[in-house]
Amino acid sequence: MRIELTTAPGNPSRPNEDWTTVAVPAAGAGGVLVVLDGVTPPTGDDGCAHGVPWFTARLGGALAELSGSRRDMTLADVLATAIRRTADAHRDTCDLSHVRTPQATVVLARWGADEVEHLVLSDSTLLLESPDGEVRAVLDDRLDRVPREVLRSVAATDALRNAEGGFFTAAADPSVAARAVTGRTPAARVRSLLAMTDGATRWVEVFREGGWADCPGLVRKNGARELVERVRAAESADPDGVAFPRGKSADDATVTYVEL
Ligand SMILES: [Zn+2]
Repeated sequence: MRIELTTAPGNPSRPNEDWTTVAVPAAGAGGVLVVLDGVTPPTGDDGCAHGVPWFTARLGGALAELSGSRRDMTLADVLATAIRRTADAHRDTCDLSHVRTPQATVVLARWGADEVEHLVLSDSTLLLESPDGEVRAVLDDRLDRVPREVLRSVAATDALRNAEGGFFTAAADPSVAARAVTGRTPAARVRSLLAMTDGATRWVEVFREGGWADCPGLVRKNGARELVERVRAAESADPDGVAFPRGKSADDATVTYVEL
């Protein structure tokens, strides 16, 4: 088994709101992978005294512990329980009904002798590479389906946040776990897993320097850091987003790779 993991803030003067871990062996065999991208609130109140890094650390820790130790729970059950546990940790001090209460995108994967389970919620990406080099991208594309002009408005975006017809993130409501994209793949059909936050998937989705199929090979050959460095180089070459329009000039970027 080989594990490669890198994370870098988009802006060195701000805390990195991504969170990742890999745990092996989980419950005696196999392992688990967690990648979260904390959603940076637009300016203004989010009802929480703790902040996004506190939230992602709590949620990520709960996801790693539960997915690693509770094989009897599905990944959706694990996500629902981790959301509830995190919400309970600040329910008494914070307004969890606030539309911008701390929230995160989620990639969760668990592998064992027989199969690889996956869960993706919101716009982080999981790639599953087969032994013959075929790469399948697991995407929750609800946010992509929201028109770009709508996302320029804070009020319009808030109206779609964790709302029917909009997009869903892990916030304070455990029932969102039922909205996640989930699946199982025979372990023999998976050579590697590669999870990335949208600060890293820009290499494919914004700068179009390669496709999903290029990512596992690039990380295997040059390391996870290489993918982030290529993104940073492309961002530096177009700092104002003229050639490649994007929300933030640079974003927190995480790449987590597991070769089984
Ligand atoms: Zn709080």
